[in-house]
Amino acid sequence: MTRKQKHYGVLIAGYILVLSLMLLSQGAEVIGKFSLLLLPLVLLAGILEENFGAMVFTVLATFAIVGAYLIQWIPQAPAVTQVVCLGCLYGVVALYNKDRDLGYKLFRRRMDPKDKELLKVERKAFVIRRQIEGYNKRLKALIKLYEVAKKLSGILKLESMLDEARLEVAQVLPHHFSAQSDEDVRLAFYIPEEESSDFQRAETQEHEISDEGFPDVLQTENLRIWLGETFSSLRIKEMTSDPRFHSLCQAMPFRSMLIIPLVMHEIVIGIMALGSNQPGSFSPQDFKQTEVLGKQIVFALRKALLYRKVQTLSFTDSQTGLYVHRFFQDRLREELHRAERYHQPLSLIMLDMDHFKNINDKYGHQVGDAVLVESAARIKEMAGEIALVARYGGEEFAVLLPNTTKAGAEQVARSINTFLKSSPIDVGELKLNLTISGGVSMYPDDAYSREALITTADTALYQAKRNGRDLVRVYES
Ligand code: GH3
Ligand code: MG
Ligand code: MG
Repeated sequence: MTRKQKHYGVLIAGYILVLSLMLLSQGAEVIGKFSLLLLPLVLLAGILEENFGAMVFTVLATFAIVGAYLIQWIPQAPAVTQVVCLGCLYGVVALYNKDRDLGYKLFRRRMDPKDKELLKVERKAFVIRRQIEGYNKRLKALIKLYEVAKKLSGILKLESMLDEARLEVAQVLPHHFSAQSDEDVRLAFYIPEEESSDFQRAETQEHEISDEGFPDVLQTENLRIWLGETFSSLRIKEMTSDPRFHSLCQAMPFRSMLIIPLVMHEIVIGIMALGSNQPGSFSPQDFKQTEVLGKQIVFALRKALLYRKVQTLSFTDSQTGLYVHRFFQDRLREELHRAERYHQPLSLIMLDMDHFKNINDKYGHQVGDAVLVESAARIKEMAGEIALVARYGGEEFAVLLPNTTKAGAEQVARSINTFLKSSPIDVGELKLNLTISGGVSMYPDDAYSREALITTADTALYQAKRNGRDLVRVYES
């Protein structure tokens, strides 16, 4: 039902009610008063429809007739009632003939043909004016959305873009996010996880619009249950009354929610979720506006995600996920500066897989690749948090350990060596036993420069190879 239809309904119901009261009432004195009940109805209609001319006219006409009754120009109450009713009825009808259709019809016969033309033109102009007003409103909304899209698309860094998007959401729903609002509304963005098809909560930088309370991961399986196979946006009025969200209720402190999938080319690249601690917090209007905003955010999100990927790809090895040689050299330079400045040790481990050629020759290059990926993961795991692990060459790795002595680095190298051979690497049906050799050197004991540090670690590695492989050697000058 449209808004206008609703107004019609209310007015007609009110009108019928007043007429029924009049009919039921026996005392002539009371009848006149009932008809005045129509007055607030006309006022209401006038305000809702912004038809102030007809409203003022009707109110004045009613007062004039009632006035005439009071000064006893019109002596009989029932007669007054009828006239007042007719006046009100005219007002109501006139309200809904905003283009003065009724007035035009009523006075048409008496009008001069020129005036008639003029009236027609006026009528058309009125309709056109209303249309232009509507277009202007829509244009303003579109310009606003365009500006939002432009602003967001200009921000490449994912975290900054999402923080800006948060502010835009708050602007679209000011009544939820204003300081005066007594409800607690939170907002979270989710982006695809690297290793799975689920969605992880995007980091915020201590933003004033918090995402506290939202879980770290939204599983695609659950999203399918909530949003359907087509991933349609969802407005949850009361979480506790819908069995689909019972598990969600335990995870989140919200009573009502909006879940807006950010979809591009039928692929969900993110989720925007709003949660309120009060039931029924989000109106259909809020829902619609947030959905439209989501359509703008999705472009910027795609760009930021791509940008992040390019950034990551440029300094990590796509096969093993370790840092690439060039990035390692840059970081080594930086770490050496830092070590010099703060008078700290800096150790380097160079690692090389033993007899790796045999793996390739025996099982093929693909198996060799799979072994390398697993070996890299094991090295990374054993190297620890502070280490910078790089793929130095084909099956050679470098582990840079800031503020670590040679003894500490030797320990790390040995744990890598032990971990690699502790259990065979599974590649399909195959179980392959691998070993690795390592050489360790340290700034400032063994070398002062970047090149010297690498050369000394390489020398130690060469010694490990010469002494039979599956060994760790520290550099000794
Ligand atoms: P060792 O180091 O113990 O002396 O023997 P090795 O057989 O490992 O000898 P070397 O380190 O000289 O050779 C490395 C081999 O690793 C040669 C190359 O075919 C292989 N290799 C290098 N990079 C890759 C890669 O990305 N994938 C695969 N499958 N093999 C690689
Ligand atoms: Mg090698
Ligand atoms: Mg080797």
